[in-house]
Amino acid sequence: MRLRLPAGVAREPDPDPCQASIIERVGANPGRPALVVGPPGSGKTTLAVALARDAVNRRAIDAGSVLVLTPTRRAAERLRDRVSAAVGVPTGGAIVRSVASLAWSILRANALEAGEPPPVLLTGAMQDEILRDLLQGHRIGRAPGPSWDGVAASEATALPGFCHELRDLIMRAEEADLGPEDLRALGERHGRAAWVAAAQVFGEYEANLELRRMAEDQGALHDSAGMVSAAADVLAARGRELAPWRLVVLDDAQDVTRAAWRLLKVIARSAGVVLIGNADQAVQGFRGAAPEVLAGAVLDAPEGLGAVVLRLTRTHGRAPGLASLSRRIAERIGTSREFSSRTRGGGVPQDPPVEVIVSSGAGEARALATRLREAHRGGGGKPCAWSDMVVIARNQARVREIRAGLIDEGIPCASLGGATALHLEPAVAPLLRLARRALGAAWTTEQAEEVLASRLVGLGAMSVRHLKRRLLEEERSGGGTRSAGALLVDALEDPSRLADRGASAPEILWAIWTSLGVADGWREAALGGSSTDDADLDAVVALFDAASRYVERLPDAPPESFFSYLEGQGFADDSLAARGGEGDVVAFETPASAAGREWDIVAIVGLEEGTWPNLRLRDTVFGAATLAEVVSGREQGASPRDQVEAAHASRLAVLADETRAFYVAFTRARGRVVALCREGDGDRPSRFVSLIDGPGQRRRRPADDIQGLSSLREAVVRLRREAEGLSADERAGHVAMLAHLAEAGITGADPSEWHGVAPASTDEPLWGEAQIVRVSPSKVQGIESCPLKAVLEASGGSGEAGEAQRRGLLVHDIAADHPAGGAEELKAALADRWSELGYPDNWVGNRERERIDRMMERLAEYTAEVRNEGWEVRAERSFRVEVGRALLSGRADRVHLKDGEVRIADLKTSSSRISEAEAQRNAQLAMYQAAVTCGGFSEGTEAAGAELVFLGLRSGNPVRKQDPIDREGAMARLNAVVEELCKPAFEARVGKDCWSCPVKRSCPAWPQGGQVSGP
Ligand code: SF4
Repeated sequence: MRLRLPAGVAREPDPDPCQASIIERVGANPGRPALVVGPPGSGKTTLAVALARDAVNRRAIDAGSVLVLTPTRRAAERLRDRVSAAVGVPTGGAIVRSVASLAWSILRANALEAGEPPPVLLTGAMQDEILRDLLQGHRIGRAPGPSWDGVAASEATALPGFCHELRDLIMRAEEADLGPEDLRALGERHGRAAWVAAAQVFGEYEANLELRRMAEDQGALHDSAGMVSAAADVLAARGRELAPWRLVVLDDAQDVTRAAWRLLKVIARSAGVVLIGNADQAVQGFRGAAPEVLAGAVLDAPEGLGAVVLRLTRTHGRAPGLASLSRRIAERIGTSREFSSRTRGGGVPQDPPVEVIVSSGAGEARALATRLREAHRGGGGKPCAWSDMVVIARNQARVREIRAGLIDEGIPCASLGGATALHLEPAVAPLLRLARRALGAAWTTEQAEEVLASRLVGLGAMSVRHLKRRLLEEERSGGGTRSAGALLVDALEDPSRLADRGASAPEILWAIWTSLGVADGWREAALGGSSTDDADLDAVVALFDAASRYVERLPDAPPESFFSYLEGQGFADDSLAARGGEGDVVAFETPASAAGREWDIVAIVGLEEGTWPNLRLRDTVFGAATLAEVVSGREQGASPRDQVEAAHASRLAVLADETRAFYVAFTRARGRVVALCREGDGDRPSRFVSLIDGPGQRRRRPADDIQGLSSLREAVVRLRREAEGLSADERAGHVAMLAHLAEAGITGADPSEWHGVAPASTDEPLWGEAQIVRVSPSKVQGIESCPLKAVLEASGGSGEAGEAQRRGLLVHDIAADHPAGGAEELKAALADRWSELGYPDNWVGNRERERIDRMMERLAEYTAEVRNEGWEVRAERSFRVEVGRALLSGRADRVHLKDGEVRIADLKTSSSRISEAEAQRNAQLAMYQAAVTCGGFSEGTEAAGAELVFLGLRSGNPVRKQDPIDREGAMARLNAVVEELCKPAFEARVGKDCWSCPVKRSCPAWPQGGQVSGP
């Protein structure tokens, strides 16, 4: 873990005249509620800080009586230091809080006074977990569930989306202070079967929380909506005792929920309340934000606060043109103009600092990296720090994708701690797998491979493949028959020993984490500046924090439920462990997480129609948004026409949400916006692009036109590549530049470092003069065809054993074990060992099984024929015999004996055979016969020919025979092969095998294998 010094808090700017006048008016009317609206960049948050400072420093209000509220925890964290520094006096408690934190502190104070344990906040993911459990109980008959007729098929209740929607509905009901019976009644009145059914689950959910609450030392459990509603009730009953504030300022008021609005109205009974916001900037809709709260504020009590409306009209530090484009976007949002601070302005200047990059997807990250790098170097202005840049995407998948691309391009990128679900973090996913295994869950081969290849174990994909091959070889040499996948799973030490029975989730995770022993290495690397190690350590710390909080809140839940809860999270929990600042790196955000902050450069990615805006209706099953409408008094009729209008209105509402999110993303920029969209292959630019790309799409650039350099090494590569296609005269500039880079010591610029320029490391032959050369019959044909290919393959140039080779090995093994086996015996042997091949249990596996069964039948027929001819059949035989400089050695699949004569047979599993003429010339068969005549087989020295048996052939005679050989001719062939192998260089013989040659990339006979420095 790295301790970082907190970034210094910048001095707060002096209020501009508009802000100063608002501060003056609030100070002059301390009890009068106010609603301040202003456009992006008008200093709304700065005003919130200034109001707190003015109250404490000028109006001498006790700091403990001033409270600044924000809708989210992250916003409160960002604001806390600014307000504390501005106020400059010690305070007894937090002067900045999120609404949820305030509600918790009210309930906590109330509980402590009553001698009860403090309350506990349930996160959204934990609510999902409870609801999932209830719905599953209904499905398996543990308790009678509601009828979902007309709502969804009962199997659909197992889907995560169903659970999320149900939670949203319950949250909206709680925010509106509705209980299960109220929801049922509303459902019946409005003909909504989903609400009626959900009311039963809602009731069980409340009972469940109540039950958990009865555990000893367990404080009251609340979800966020329930907690804020409960705090409003407590405050309403206790009044000033628990509400000591004289001034409460709510920043980003457009993002508070209805429950928060209720709490605020209670607070306003005894304190001056200032709401600051802009309805166009609401982005917390998915968490129940209700921007109409702003409109409610101006209504008279009891519905509203009777707030006076004040306006911020100046914008600060915006590049010319951005504000005009922002207005154009805002005009497309369908919400009330009154509380959105839209102003009519002139047209858009000719050249606003906006660029639209269009790509097919490929080259997108590269083009963006080029733009960010140019800005960092100060292209066209002053250099911009990486930390003054942000990339915003509508969803996390796109955030992850573009971040990975930028990392590849060498851009320093912030970790995704605040924007990605914890269980998807690369360091956390394998830890969860191991924990599941520790609890007894079976592993699949894929999961075992995933864990071994992860950074936790650190083998990497290539090493895992090698490990599997080694395990398989060991298994076969010991006579074992298990498949590579099964061996891999078994080879992993059983992690179940790490988990004591009854251990909690944090204990299991800790046991696994410490046993892996990677912590020290990661920490050292992180301290040395590795952002990957740093991010991974952060993620692991966040995992332990999440596990501890889960156990604290649900002490009786089994460890498995924590892992399910975590894996069920589709988005980052709002309560990850605090993370330090990350230094000078580019930030990655979604519109919701970017709200309230600004950067010099904003890159907006994923601007395709269907992605942003995504007009899919969000709550089609339960209609949570409709419930909010109904509660607000905007009831809908039930006629078909009303339903059509309602559907249309829902779609417009979704479009407004999406436009607001784009507006917030765009308005985060102080200096420049780079928008990225994809076109082609089903993608087309979003309608939002047309709002910012100017007449005639003037601001659009194809990604391919943006060619940047990420490093001097890349410059070297480009210079060398371009120079290749130029004449000697034309390449003079390139050569000079390469020379300059070589002088500066840039790797790859100096020709002496180029591959192929250095002389060969040795011209000694592979085999010394006195050495015996080992020759395998099966390799002779290959050496005769192309010596270079044969030598490179023998030196590791061939690929890994493929499926065909594994299949061949198994068939040969069975043939060796059953030299006289009939079809049934051979097929039974195959059945015993079938799992070794690892075929899936489906039609693909069945088809292969039939094919190899057929090979077994053909082998049995062949064996029977040979025996009928009077030959004795002996199974696989090894042989070694020295012939001149050659050591001829190998294995013969079958040795047939009759009247002192020996005939060798070689089994092939390919589905095609060679011609009879080719068989007569076949080098492998000739070498077998040579081995017989030279005494390589104890059975005799009289060679009676040899044959190849093509077991995979579908029809026709599978046997190809070679007559007894001319011994002298065979010896000459063998000597020629030895001579070839003893040369100092190997010839590349182009021929019919080249098309499938696995070492073509290393073959000088082909362009792709030529030397880099070749002519
Ligand atoms: S590509 Fe052709 S010539 Fe080159 S090594 Fe392979 S087989 Fe030989």
